[in-house]
Amino acid sequence: MTRYPNLLAPLDLGFTTLPNRVLMGSMHVGLEDRPKNLHRLAEFYAERARGGVGLMVTGGFAPNRTGWLLPLAGKLTTKGEVARHREITAAVHDNGGRIALQILHAGRYSYHPFSASASKSKSPITPFSARAMRGNEVRSTIADFASAAALARDAGYDGVEIMGSEGYLINQFLTARTNRRTDEWGGSAEKRQRFPVEIVRQVRDAVGPDFIVIYRMSLLDLVEDGQSWAEVVALAKAVQGAGTTLINTGIGWHEARVPTIVTSVPRGAFTWVTAKLRPEVSIPVIASNRINMPETAEEILARGDADMVSMARPFLADPDWVRKAADERSDEINTCIGCNQACLDHTFAHKVASCLVNPRAGHETELTLLPTRRTKRVAVVGAGPAGLAAATAAAGRGHTVELFDAEDEIGGQFQLARRIPGKEEFAETLRYYARQLELTGVKVHLGQTATAAELLEGGWDEIVLATGVRPRPVSIPGADRPNVHSYADVITGAARIGARVAVIGAGGIGFDVSEFLTHAGAHGVALDRDEWLREWGVGDPAVARGGLVPPAPEPSPRTVYLLQRKRSKVGAGLGKTTGWVHRSALKARGVETIKGVEYARIDDAGLHINVMSKGGRGSSARVLEVDDVVVCAGQESRRDLLAELQAAGVSVHVIGGADVAAELDAKRAIDQGTRLAATL
Ligand code: FAD
Ligand code: NAP
Ligand code: SF4
Repeated sequence: MTRYPNLLAPLDLGFTTLPNRVLMGSMHVGLEDRPKNLHRLAEFYAERARGGVGLMVTGGFAPNRTGWLLPLAGKLTTKGEVARHREITAAVHDNGGRIALQILHAGRYSYHPFSASASKSKSPITPFSARAMRGNEVRSTIADFASAAALARDAGYDGVEIMGSEGYLINQFLTARTNRRTDEWGGSAEKRQRFPVEIVRQVRDAVGPDFIVIYRMSLLDLVEDGQSWAEVVALAKAVQGAGTTLINTGIGWHEARVPTIVTSVPRGAFTWVTAKLRPEVSIPVIASNRINMPETAEEILARGDADMVSMARPFLADPDWVRKAADERSDEINTCIGCNQACLDHTFAHKVASCLVNPRAGHETELTLLPTRRTKRVAVVGAGPAGLAAATAAAGRGHTVELFDAEDEIGGQFQLARRIPGKEEFAETLRYYARQLELTGVKVHLGQTATAAELLEGGWDEIVLATGVRPRPVSIPGADRPNVHSYADVITGAARIGARVAVIGAGGIGFDVSEFLTHAGAHGVALDRDEWLREWGVGDPAVARGGLVPPAPEPSPRTVYLLQRKRSKVGAGLGKTTGWVHRSALKARGVETIKGVEYARIDDAGLHINVMSKGGRGSSARVLEVDDVVVCAGQESRRDLLAELQAAGVSVHVIGGADVAAELDAKRAIDQGTRLAATL
């Protein structure tokens, strides 16, 4: 008897049966767009097929050039492309998997000057204006979807997913927000829906009855003038009638100002919307967004919210997710923590997507951790992300590894990160590594500060210094007062903080500390879903179009000032796809951000600052009457042991924050640790 009977139950689609209820959702990994990368892409999917996922969906391929997301993006329009795709489908089928190709027309989300949409318009997130499609172009675009689907079948795919959510072309036809047409494709909800319904009908005609057609549907647009719930239900029924096999859930247009997948979104936050649609149709529906562990997925299915669950990023983090769940090894799953740092942030920077907790993702053919031919004795000093990655990867290859940390628990700075409200998921990475240490047989010494002399005595073949960072002190007069604290003391609760606080330094940690200080509740407990929905203004789409209602954030228990010396926008250096969420959250809780600050002194009156004027020519003095000051002024490398070890001539490697503190993040720390282990 399995712990996940619903998750692991087969799903009979009539002409084929999926082995379980897990869909690997579409992800553009950046290997789709160049023929030379298709081999890497094939290996990426093959590894996930071996991991047992029921059905995978590729990243989006355009049905024609106008639909490209970027110039020269992946498309499926020619026989030559079909031949290249066969490498992908063969790799998946050879490894027991199934795969559907996603057909995506970007419409006004295209990053090229010849983009087209339902009406002439420009999206708030792309630089180019889209022209309005003429009637015959609408018809030819529908035919292009059908042609791409037929070519997908030729290429060996098991199905297609028609991308009808996240604000792409199909959404642009569906709402009055972007469709102002007066011909047969606009003017009423029924006419606006004709475009997707005709696409599904022609796709089904082109592929025959025994081929999976998924329609990814926007259930909550989360933008003004989005679809009403009655329109969503009518569309679901219509696409079912036109030949859809499965309806997948899409939440929010890309231009929506409500986060839908970042780590602070509670797990399964949107499955209630899928549950609302399910009784309206007779085909299986798929829930999505922030589902990352088997327990969550099983609950969703057991509750009857959906027939399947879709997860995308969790398969970057762990290709063996399904197999581990099926083998009762869910404690071995490397959990997606929703950080977006190596996946979506890479995609937006036009880099190959990977994963912060699994640097092999997207690099399967190049970053291999083969068994070693010569076992070495390896000492790793520091059990932060860098040391944990190095120790477990080296031991996994067969080396004899011992890991030392001065603290009583593993994790380094991640022990602080996981205490930030909205970052509770980071604890999963530490659970994963704790289990990997056991599985790979690393001998762990906690509460033990390693010295150079001890390390030299140990006679190690390799010594890895992953000793991380220490907070950078500031040299402001009064910084030695008892009401001036380091971020670590604040987050661990060692320092008690009053009602008015100034935070010095507005990097990632300054933002996190401000988040911590503006939350009243218990820390380390997942955020309450209903409270989160109220905070971001998400409501019942049957009451409010697109599910948008006025936000009602919980008031902050403290007055918080967040300061930086630079004159650039506060928070400009945060993640591309997550920074806006942090900035909006603090704004909603009344945090005052001040840039262009010069710190004068701290005394009984508070923190004295001079604030540069907008033009930068003058400055004005200001006293922030605060009870406490928290210093988040970056970090410095801890590499006290290095010189002595080097002088002794032993083989020593420095990774993570100990190597370079500036712009350090766990992505670099884990990547560096893993890559070093691959070479030992
Ligand atoms: P550390 O995590 O600093 O670990 C070093 C370890 O070495 C420590 O455990 C220390 O005790 C040990 N050590 C040092 N000297 C010795 C010695 N002589 N003997 C034995 N042990 C020793 N990064 C992100 O990528 N994304 C985020 O969202 C994010 N959020 C963060 C939020 C907060 C509040 C904080 C504080 C950090 C956050 N970070 C985040 C940064 C991330 O945690 C660090 O980049 C990462 O932990 C650095 O890893 P590391 O292994 O190099 O060093
Ligand atoms: P950081 O990003 O380097 O920010 C340090 C801040 O302190 C800056 O605002 C800097 O701005 C200020 N500062 C630097 N030296 C100072 C000094 N001597 N006196 C006063 N202010 C000073 O470092 P961090 O916030 O400590 O974050 C460390 C790393 O953790 C980051 O690189 C980040 O990638 C990672 N992290 C990421 C996230 C995330 O959400 N992705 C969250 C937390 C941490 P001014 O010089 O302009 O004042
Ligand atoms: Fe998940 Fe972060 Fe990895 Fe992306 S980079 S897959 S969000 S853990």
